[in-house]
Amino acid sequence: MTAAPIAQAAGRLAPLHVRGELLAGRRVGAFHHLTLAAPGVPERFRPGTFVALSVGETHLARRAFWIHQVKPMGGHGATIQIVVEPVGVGTRWLTGLPTGTGLDVTGPLGRAFALPKEAVSCVLIGEEYAAAPLFPLAERLRERGCRVSMIVAGRDEAHLLSTLEAKRSARSVTVVTRDGSIGQKGSVADVVGDVLRREEAAVVYGAGTVSSLHAVAAAAEEHGAWSQTAIEQPLTCATGLCHGCAVPVVGEDGAPRLARACADGPVFRGDRVRWDEVGK
Ligand SMILES: Cc1cc2nc3c(=O)[nH]c(=O)nc-3n(C[C@H](O)[C@H](O)[C@H](O)COP(=O)(O)OP(=O)(O)OC[C@H]3O[C@@H](n4cnc5c(N)ncnc54)[C@H](O)[C@@H]3O)c2cc1C
Repeated sequence: MTAAPIAQAAGRLAPLHVRGELLAGRRVGAFHHLTLAAPGVPERFRPGTFVALSVGETHLARRAFWIHQVKPMGGHGATIQIVVEPVGVGTRWLTGLPTGTGLDVTGPLGRAFALPKEAVSCVLIGEEYAAAPLFPLAERLRERGCRVSMIVAGRDEAHLLSTLEAKRSARSVTVVTRDGSIGQKGSVADVVGDVLRREEAAVVYGAGTVSSLHAVAAAAEEHGAWSQTAIEQPLTCATGLCHGCAVPVVGEDGAPRLARACADGPVFRGDRVRWDEVGK
């Protein structure tokens, strides 16, 4: 691997805890795209950060969501968009809300993706809703003159996020589905090595399941590229206090230690994560 082509992970502004509002929601395939007013949060956003939303009538439980887009909307100024897959009590509650509902929003939380120092070739690999933070990342990379290619993956067509937008954002897009309903049939692991070689990738960004991220980090290492992986560990406090979202990593000194996904991550250098031990 050559000298680090990426800057240190960007510093961050303190997250805000604000009363937000659900402004709009629309269903696309298996996902709901929700637009939220969250005063002050969009201005602090960097790709790879997330928000914690209080869900349920009691507002006691909080759930984490990647910030997908920051866009102006009508008289609300900048808003944030998140992509939600209804899988359990909290996400079903959220996706069933009428527009105009007030929501407690904390964010942006976590450490963002680090950006390359130079205009290099970057491959962005996103699986299902977790591809959400890669779209604003693609925009930032293109602004820096980087060549951007994407792999968009999912179990089937309904679980692919914004393939059309990917085609607008990236120079080349590889679509892969487990059931072969669209694109190549297979998994991230099946295609990532070929794409990194073809694109002569210098920096690789991944967001998805642990097994896919493991494959991304391994392929990047084999190819001599740097990898940045956004890891989803179930979060309790989401602010770094409870240490409930431990990610096994190798520290700067080479010693194994536990990092907090919410505060030290969720973006980690792929070659620093002890992948076989994540979630154990
Ligand atoms: C940093 C981060 C960003 C996230 N971004 C998004 C997003 O953009 N969109 C989205 O839909 N979801 C996202 N998630 C996942 C989402 O927060 C969880 O799935 C959440 O628990 C769902 O809440 P629930 O009450 O609906 O379901 P729960 O009742 O909490 O869980 C439903 C099912 O999902 C499993 N589960 C819970 N948390 C996780 C997790 N983190 N990873 C894998 N499985 C889990 C549970 O074991 C259960 O089987 C993110 C998680 C993290 C940590």
